[in-house]
Amino acid sequence: MASCKRIGLLGGTFDPVHIGHLRGALEVVEFMGLDELRLIPSARPPHRETPQVGAQDRLAMVEQAVAGLPPLRVDDRELQRDKPSYSIDTLESLRGELAADDQLFLILGWDAFCGLPAWHRWDELLCHCHILVLQRPDADSEASEPLRDLLAARNIADPLALKGPAGQISFIWQTPLAVSATQIRSLLANGRSVRFLVPDAVLAYINAHGLYRG
Ligand code: ATP
Repeated sequence: MASCKRIGLLGGTFDPVHIGHLRGALEVVEFMGLDELRLIPSARPPHRETPQVGAQDRLAMVEQAVAGLPPLRVDDRELQRDKPSYSIDTLESLRGELAADDQLFLILGWDAFCGLPAWHRWDELLCHCHILVLQRPDADSEASEPLRDLLAARNIADPLALKGPAGQISFIWQTPLAVSATQIRSLLANGRSVRFLVPDAVLAYINAHGLYRG
């Protein structure tokens, strides 16, 4: 019998994708021994402002960023749906395509994790996946009581000890990179360079399409 697959999921607006996302994704793949990690651009994120740049450009930048890095893939299913991008819908749709014992790891930066109780059907997420929380040096959010309760019940100290297809939470170390898409948009709007904050291919795309200029 084939062994179960280990698949990471990193959703985001990727407006634009940057080294914080990409280095984090790669480190999670290597540390966790994942078979693949899917970057999933959201169409209409329910809990934040509409992205500055359209879905097709954000998707194209993520595709450019991961080209030639086989474990990192782009999954555009949220862009195919004509409704807000709820993670629970994405997880249900992915689960419909996978073997029951395949392991799914939803990767969230600390700030995104702190916002979890506002997500649609958030209490069902762990039925479909484990959650890996990435430290984020520029984040100053605090976990609310429902999250602290969830952590008390589901937290596992060692991410490599997460068992089964879903249901547990662990924290994962990554090289701290205090980079955000907000900072990158602001630099570009002010005519400043974002070289080395995004892959060169993404910078070339931004320049070629005149994105984020003030
Ligand atoms: P914005 O500044 O527009 O809010 P962002 O840089 O936070 O964007 P998103 O696309 O919203 O990027 O992030 C997608 C996911 O990646 C979230 O879970 C977020 O916490 C995580 N993330 C983003 N930047 C970093 C970083 N520098 N280090 C660790 N995690 C990050």
